[in-house]
Amino acid sequence: MAPHSERRPFLVHTSRLRRAVGSRSHEVRRGVIDDLACSGSAVPAHAQVEADVVLESVVGGVSVTGTVRAPWTGTCRRCLEPAGDTIEVEVREHFTEGGDGQETYPLCEGELDLEPMVRDAVLLELPQAPLCRQGCLGICPTCGVNRNEEACRCRPERDERWAALDVLREPS
Ligand SMILES: [Zn+2]
Repeated sequence: MAPHSERRPFLVHTSRLRRAVGSRSHEVRRGVIDDLACSGSAVPAHAQVEADVVLESVVGGVSVTGTVRAPWTGTCRRCLEPAGDTIEVEVREHFTEGGDGQETYPLCEGELDLEPMVRDAVLLELPQAPLCRQGCLGICPTCGVNRNEEACRCRPERDERWAALDVLREPS
């Protein structure tokens, strides 16, 4: 890999692509992007984020469609054990000369940097309230037992009240 693409792995040269409307190129780029985090989870430091995209030259710019993938880790909101998985986000974005600061990303002097798009896609998709698994049973509020690991002997009505509270706390 050339030294320059090591530093900016998401930078794509577009001069050739842009010679004809309709030209396409498939790019798979991987690299580390710093500070990908939300309140509930984060992409681990030094973890590789991947963009697997098709660039197409269109009138006035370049359209980018494909998939962005990133590993994440966090703490399960119910049992407080470590949680983690990989997010996979479909992207469909436009890059225009200089960008418009809102809907499109910038394209300048024959270069297009996918990194801001990848960053935005990952930040939108990182779970705010992760679960270690679908249907995690959480910690019993009465006896403190991790109910994924052992059965809780507390009275069932306590469990139901807790379940109702848990629903209230779920953002979705
Ligand atoms: Zn859990």
